[in-house]
Parts: sequence; C-alpha cells; structure tokens
Amino acid sequence: MRVLIVEDERDMVEAISLSLRFQWPDCEVAVAEDGAAAVELAQQDTFDLMLLDLGLPRLDGFQVLREVRVGSAVPVIIITARGEELDKVRGLELGADDYVTKPFSHLELLARVKAVLRRVDMPPPGLSSSTSYYDGYLSIDYQSHQVKVAGAPVSLTPIEYNLLYHLVRNAGQVVPHRILLAKVWGHEYEDETDYLRVYLRRLREKLERDPDNPEYLLTERGLGYRFQRSQGTVGTDAGTRGASTGSG
Ligand code: CA
Repeated sequence: MRVLIVEDERDMVEAISLSLRFQWPDCEVAVAEDGAAAVELAQQDTFDLMLLDLGLPRLDGFQVLREVRVGSAVPVIIITARGEELDKVRGLELGADDYVTKPFSHLELLARVKAVLRRVDMPPPGLSSSTSYYDGYLSIDYQSHQVKVAGAPVSLTPIEYNLLYHLVRNAGQVVPHRILLAKVWGHEYEDETDYLRVYLRRLREKLERDPDNPEYLLTERGLGYRFQRSQGTVGTDAGTRGASTGSG
C-alpha cells in the first residue's frame, strides 16, 4: 500500500506513519509538507490513499483537493483541526472521502483508513442477471464500472459509482437514507445524510441533462432517493414519477 501524507507538522507525520506501519508493515509512505508539493507528488505518482491536512503552507488543503481531483480518484481522508460542519461539507463537495479531526487516536485513524479502503475495494454487490443498464442516454456497465452519458465516458469516483449502482439496481424503489449510507459508506455512517446530499448532487451534475431538474436521481423527501429509469426505456419496471421533486 502506498500512502501520501500531506502535513506540515513533523510530529503529526511521524505519528501517522507509525500508525500506518503498525497496521500495514509494508506500507510505503510519501510525505508532502506543503500544498504545492502535494499536488506535484499526486500528479507524478499513484497512491492508494491520501491523508490531507487542511492547514498547509502555499496551497491549503481545499485547494490541493480541488487540483488533485481534476485527474485522480485517489481516496482522500481530510485531517482537520477545525471540525466545523461547513468545512466538512465543503471537503465532501470537493471530493474528500472522509475526515478525522485532530486530536485523533491511533485506533480512530486506522478505523477511518480501513473504512475508506474497504469501500474502494468493495466489489459491486450481488452481480445478478443483467450486467448493464442502458436507456439510449445513460449507460452503466456493471462489470467494467464504465458509465457513459450520451455515448461519452463519465469518470466517477468509487463512492459515486457505488452509490449510483445501489440506486440503479433498485430502480423504481425508494432506497432509504440509512440503507444507502450503510451500503456505500458503512454502518457507522448511517446518520451522515450530508454525505448523501453532496454525492447525489455530484452524480446529478455528472449524469443528468439538467442537474436542477433531475430525471434519474430523484429525491423522496424525508425518505431517501429513487432511481427513475428513462421514460423511453422498453421494458421498464419503474413506477410513475409521483410526488418526487427537487434536487435536495
Ligand atoms: Ca497543518
């Protein structure tokens, strides 16, 4: 496993490295002590995980995340001392996978890292009869994980893909918030509805013709989300669109 630690405090780098090597003795650790170095390293090399401090010299963590996300789906755990809700949502919007808040324990860090890696490695659940979804506009290949919109490939992070997958495989049905959170992020995330809001918006921006008036990814207020097959699809088992509205 190769991990990029982006952190300007030497003691923190030491502590994180020790934790990682305690769990994964063969873990390779690269360190960037400022934001610009982090972006450079992330572009030159491939990593299985990035641990990203927010308060950094030169480029702050948010700027690093924005630049890294342009070309990479590497899982990112943000290390924050700030902890406000606003920062958390902002980080998720920019493509972070999770957070740890300073000060954190060795066990807490490892739990977060394991949870993120588990999600990335998660095979698509319950590969059953069909191996793809296609409706003339949106296509999803469950084996290659390739998603296309109007014939053009769309790049999804592993989490975005898994979320879409769970919704599509339950097309026409409301999938409750807690179920989605548990399936995509893990049981310890069942109350993190912010995650869903952010990720649904990102999926809509990538997949919908008009993200503000989604045709596929529908909000069922207070309940969950529902994937609606395209109206033109032959053999659709989707129900009527009903009362679902909005992009919430
Ligand atoms: Ca710092």
